[in-house]
Amino acid sequence: MAAQLLDGKSLAAQVRADVRRKVEALAQRGIRPGLAVILAGENPASRVYVRNKVRACEETGVRSSLFELPASATEAQVLDRVQALNADPLVHGILVQLPLPRQLDAGKVLQAVSPAKDVDGFHEANLGALLAGQPRVVPCTPAGVMRLLEHAKIALAGRRAVVIGRSNIVGKPLSLLLLQKDATVTICHSKSEDIEQVARQADVLVAALGRAKLVGPALVKPGACVIDVGVNRLADGSLAGDVDFDAVRNIAGWITPVPGGVGPMTIAMLLENCVRAASQS
Ligand code: NAP
Repeated sequence: MAAQLLDGKSLAAQVRADVRRKVEALAQRGIRPGLAVILAGENPASRVYVRNKVRACEETGVRSSLFELPASATEAQVLDRVQALNADPLVHGILVQLPLPRQLDAGKVLQAVSPAKDVDGFHEANLGALLAGQPRVVPCTPAGVMRLLEHAKIALAGRRAVVIGRSNIVGKPLSLLLLQKDATVTICHSKSEDIEQVARQADVLVAALGRAKLVGPALVKPGACVIDVGVNRLADGSLAGDVDFDAVRNIAGWITPVPGGVGPMTIAMLLENCVRAASQS
């Protein structure tokens, strides 16, 4: 039997409707949530991501401002921009679109963002709070995955979750969130041995490795919930996830499509984080 689709697009629409209501409530207090986006360089994928985020802000009443810097921008220029936004009372959330041009130290730039305005949840203070089990701002993609799991009532307590990928923005924070929900969590990465065998034990399998369609049927336990975080551009211009969707959908119990799964949830969580930051300002 084909897996049930975890429809991120429709759940994200519900979240955005809720965000719109919260924005209206904040307007009664004279507050309009404001998101500032810093985009440095000419990465075409980044431009698409930023455009989608700005559009989502417009739809929900969040004020957005885009600060574009050339690919040749110096670290001082980017840090100056971050500091100015940290000090701007009309800006509640600051997003630095990654990747940054090579000459810039992304870690340094992300740490310069005020933790209270860090709507991506990438600041060490926010990642540390998550590690300590006291999450403040949770990174958007992991938060979106958890919301999808919660909405579909996927059991986590005591179940085996395997996360393939250990980045600071997806794999690691998501593993911590799954652990907080009492899953038994294993993290795999490029040096892991016997990934197939490990992955096949997963009740919840998360693919966040950035390799198109690498996760095939041999890695999937029948009936498992398969979450595909990957977004990969194929040679013909189409998008593919890290999961071989057509091959896996007849084995899995639940599966996220790409596009229309985790991606829209990421943007919805960004809006939520921004509205929360504004309401706490
Ligand atoms: P990343 O920083 O490149 O991390 C990839 C991780 O996957 C690394 O930990 C790497 O291991 C591991 N890996 C790579 N190849 C592997 C292999 N063959 N077997 C096992 N592990 C492997 O990527 P990321 O930023 O976490 O993003 C992952 C994917 O999610 C990308 O496709 C990205 O575009 C997508 N993404 C989507 C959204 C969304 O909203 N849908 C948001 C963010 C990211 P090592 O640590 O050993 O190198």
